[in-house]
Amino acid sequence: MDEEKKQNHNERMLRKKAVVDAAIERAQEERGIVVLITGNGKGKTTSAFGTLYRALGHGQRAGVVQFIKGTQATGEVIFLQQQASAAAAVEYHAMATGFTWNTQDWDADKRAADAAWAHATRLLQDPKVNLVVLDELTYMLKYNYLDTATVVDAIRQRPALQTVIITGRAARPELVELADTVSEIADRKHAFKAGVKAQAGIDF
Ligand code: ATP
Ligand code: MG
Repeated sequence: MDEEKKQNHNERMLRKKAVVDAAIERAQEERGIVVLITGNGKGKTTSAFGTLYRALGHGQRAGVVQFIKGTQATGEVIFLQQQASAAAAVEYHAMATGFTWNTQDWDADKRAADAAWAHATRLLQDPKVNLVVLDELTYMLKYNYLDTATVVDAIRQRPALQTVIITGRAARPELVELADTVSEIADRKHAFKAGVKAQAGIDF
């Protein structure tokens, strides 16, 4: 790079630094937030667990409720349960009803959803819990297994410093409104659609 380009680059970086520094100066409020990770692309649940591990690294306590039908534990959950210190710091519950495509059983699914939600409400009332992950919660609202207003109220009334991460596609507008941070992951490409088999360690 010639000297003039270097000089321009340095000036641009200096202006950028001023903007970033001013933004950091402005953001002084300390409170827990609601993070919503939605959209059709891959990376919602793994993002939530990435943040969970980040919190654990700082010695925080957490709770995870997975509103999933599958009963096979994913790598992130196996890892969590294998690490004694992490397992002690995280209360974990999965709905895990098993898939019922053949024998649709709404009542059984509803009972399982209510039981999982009972775990969530307990976590949402415990100020010792810094982070609550509600994985795939969006579907419970979309298909009316859980009442949207009840869920939104419980999250609103959580302890002031507690953060909640919600994942899942097709988030209701009430969740988007509630959340402080919303990331919509777009599905640009997915290997599965090109015929690549789901892989341990990548997809589950
Ligand atoms: P991940 O758990 O990998 O972060 P996710 O939580 O964003 O994915 P889900 O909708 O919960 O996505 O689906 C989980 C599973 O479906 C994973 O095995 C993931 O690889 C796969 N998957 C996610 N998005 C897509 C997609 N757009 N097309 C095909 N498969 C997908
Ligand atoms: Mg997911």
